[in-house]
Amino acid sequence: MRKIYNFSAGPAVLPEEVLEQAREEMLDWHGSGMSVMEMSHRGKEFMSIADETESALRELAGIPDHYKVLFLQGGASSQFAMVPMNLLGKKGKADYVNTGQWSAKAISEAKNYGSVQIAASSESDGFNSVPPLAQWHISPDAAYVHYASNETIGGVEFQWTPDLSAVAGDNKNIPLVADMSSNFLSRPFDVSKFGLIYAGAQKNVGPAGLVVVIVREDLLDIPPLAGTPAMFRYKTHADNASMYNTPPTYAIYIMGLVMEWLKKQGGLTAIEQRNIAKAKLIYDLIDVSSFYHCPVNQADRSRMNVPFTLSDPGLDGAFLKQAQAHGLIQLKGHRSVGGMRASIYNAMPLEGVQTLVTFMREFEKNHA
Ligand code: PMP
Repeated sequence: MRKIYNFSAGPAVLPEEVLEQAREEMLDWHGSGMSVMEMSHRGKEFMSIADETESALRELAGIPDHYKVLFLQGGASSQFAMVPMNLLGKKGKADYVNTGQWSAKAISEAKNYGSVQIAASSESDGFNSVPPLAQWHISPDAAYVHYASNETIGGVEFQWTPDLSAVAGDNKNIPLVADMSSNFLSRPFDVSKFGLIYAGAQKNVGPAGLVVVIVREDLLDIPPLAGTPAMFRYKTHADNASMYNTPPTYAIYIMGLVMEWLKKQGGLTAIEQRNIAKAKLIYDLIDVSSFYHCPVNQADRSRMNVPFTLSDPGLDGAFLKQAQAHGLIQLKGHRSVGGMRASIYNAMPLEGVQTLVTFMREFEKNHA
């Protein structure tokens, strides 16, 4: 048993059982005499690992057959460019929803490749909410709509999947694209509502270095922008089962172990219930306290990343130091917002959150 609880926003805590299994298999995977790190990505051993990882993901998320799963590199940040390079097509125009810093990064990158319209924004309330669908303006000729389903820094999460047919007028089949990096596999979601989903692995599914893309097959027929490098074309990777070049093999292996762990937990419906319970413990405490504060609109609060401030920022240092002494680490808020942030992804056990909440109560009692 480890003695600390790690609240990092990512790279983040992984299930202890997964790390133990990786340790056991480190030198000799299944009698192959090799570590997974030493295997050819085209050898039968690694091919079986990649296949099983993909099947487990497909089973967990209920991914329909007409969607490809790609294991890529370059992080979610590369997707900010890859999405417009591949999906803008002749339309040259896309709609983006702006709910905070990650949406903004995606927007600013997309502007390098085409024209961007802000379909909706929560800027007017300091990015502390999700704009209701009724306020979205979808352009009749936009190639896709992009949004971030969970803003990791702001702690704002969509509790619903946008149904664009209700607001897109004649453009009702417009593909929905989601940056799911920080709430991927934390709750059930209906893949068929999306054109493309991407998620950096280092929060809910594995180590850094891997980004998972789920893309509807017909979107692979859109010609990428002229000059798009082979490595930046989805079709390159789809046609080569993510083996066009050397994929991040060890990260895929760990993701496979995490998928098996998730299945053992009861899948996405069960993990969602646990995530709801964990988040509620912290928000309930914040809401009854005048010492802790969370600026996010209640209905839009993230179950994965809970940002909060202390009424006296002068106590931040003491809070972090004492938290650390209680085994509660990486609680410092993002450098752009200050305060604290507790990231409580799938692998954070309930006991970790209970320990945090007990500590927060105690700290408040001693300093309020
Ligand atoms: N999108 C979101 C929502 C994120 O949280 C992050 C990373 N924190 C990124 C994109 C960028 O991911 P990466 O560092 O893997 O490029």
